[in-house]
Amino acid sequence: MNATKYIFITGGVTSSLGKGIISASLGKLLQARGYKVSIQKIDPYLNIDPGTLNPYEHGECYVTQDGTETDLDLGHYERFLGEPTSHANNVTTGQIYQTVINKERKGDYLGKTVQIIPHITNEIKTRIKLLAKKNKLDFVITEIGGTVGDIESLPYIEAVRQLKWELGKNNAIVIHLTLVPYLSAAKELKTKPTQHSVKLLLENGVQPDIIVLRTEKSLTKEIKQKVSLFCNIDIESVIEAIDAKSIYEVPLKMQDEKLDETVLKKFSMEVGAEPDLKPWKEFLYKLYNNKKTVKIAAVGKYVELQDAYKSINDSFIHAATHQETKAIVDWIHSEKVNEENYKEIFKDYKGILVAPGFGHRGIEGKILAIKYARENNIPFLGICLGMQCAVIEFARNVLGYSDANSTEMETSTEYPVIDLMENQKSITTMGATMRLGSYPCNLKKKSKAFDAYKKNQVVERHRHRYEFNNEFIEDYEKAGMSATGINPETNLVEIMEIPAHKWFVGVQFHPEYSSTVLKPHPLFVDFIKSALE
Ligand code: GLN
Repeated sequence: MNATKYIFITGGVTSSLGKGIISASLGKLLQARGYKVSIQKIDPYLNIDPGTLNPYEHGECYVTQDGTETDLDLGHYERFLGEPTSHANNVTTGQIYQTVINKERKGDYLGKTVQIIPHITNEIKTRIKLLAKKNKLDFVITEIGGTVGDIESLPYIEAVRQLKWELGKNNAIVIHLTLVPYLSAAKELKTKPTQHSVKLLLENGVQPDIIVLRTEKSLTKEIKQKVSLFCNIDIESVIEAIDAKSIYEVPLKMQDEKLDETVLKKFSMEVGAEPDLKPWKEFLYKLYNNKKTVKIAAVGKYVELQDAYKSINDSFIHAATHQETKAIVDWIHSEKVNEENYKEIFKDYKGILVAPGFGHRGIEGKILAIKYARENNIPFLGICLGMQCAVIEFARNVLGYSDANSTEMETSTEYPVIDLMENQKSITTMGATMRLGSYPCNLKKKSKAFDAYKKNQVVERHRHRYEFNNEFIEDYEKAGMSATGINPETNLVEIMEIPAHKWFVGVQFHPEYSSTVLKPHPLFVDFIKSALE
């Protein structure tokens, strides 16, 4: 194949329609037809990246191998396609303006007035094309965040208009995703919001090529015809996206609706053989026909928000499904766990996970959850702050260092068992300054981690400032908690385990970022396995 084909996904009517899942599903279908695909997310906010955002704002911050803090949609892309994403896959308005303003300060614009058009739109177009250039792709799918009509999306829609024109209709198409609401009083599906949303796009000079309609109820031919007529789109290009039981079913639903075929035809490409989705379908079969269930307690402090622990929830689904099991994961608010109730709260769970996090709030509840898991031989997985809390719990309750803490929580502790790395101490700015992205970790042969990975060395993604304090390592090893994963370059402790326990593993890194549908993460797999025993 010669030129990269560009697919833009815009959204109308409302947010949260699942543009990310539609993008990932289309990407999956094209990939399963043998094409090289990458998906990009554009976020129209002024932050440079979501690393400085509270999870309550936009959900989890996802971290790529190259250490970029990104939008959680990139997690969907990786989980669906099984291909790593990078810096180039997430563009924000903050990045675009920063680049343009830096160029202006250097004098790169040679005395010209710097404007949204063409300077901002040119930078947007450069970022969209960069991804294809870097990876020699057949398809780039670019998901434009936000909803058409938002002031902040305007420069992106204009960039899409220009690219569509410049690249020509055989090289760039727009898919518009909207909602067809069902009015129960009238017992009717309504297309008017879609018509208005397409009008908004047209006002900005963009005619969508395909419309995907999110709906709770199956669409009649009449509804599709109406959308076709009012939106200047042939009826084959009006696609139904009915609610699915699982997001992982969406690629199959999109295949049924011939979304992939329609896309190929728009590009005047040969449709060829059906996509090979055999492993995907096997996964889905297991997902809907599991034989066992296992109850897991997950402890965190952003539990009110479904998206805050997206990757962890999905990692459970992947790992459990491959064992024909349904993991029932109950999220427990760490601030609600206390000395009086913790035994009662955790008594019925077969496994306990303590989630990543920042700051002091909820920390004591996490420590109590770990105490319960340790004392009652309940499989435990601690991720990042979860691992750090396990280290603190062990210091306080086994080593007898009653005021042990992380210096993130208590700078004056006598036992700083978790402490800031030396090179973090001089850092004063918050953005992109943590230990981020992939680092190698050597595993000890006799460990739960080695049993899970079956490898001497693994590479895992990080996002933290604090570390296990190696000054205390001998105390831990003597008392029965052991460092089983070490960074070979820096000697930092990456995994702590209690060998005498059934399955007690704390990891400084984030295994949840690299679990995919077809390749569940080994630590989640073994955690579930042990919880099932
Ligand atoms: N707050 C801890 C640190 O910065 C843990 C971070 C996390 O859980 N991602 O080290």
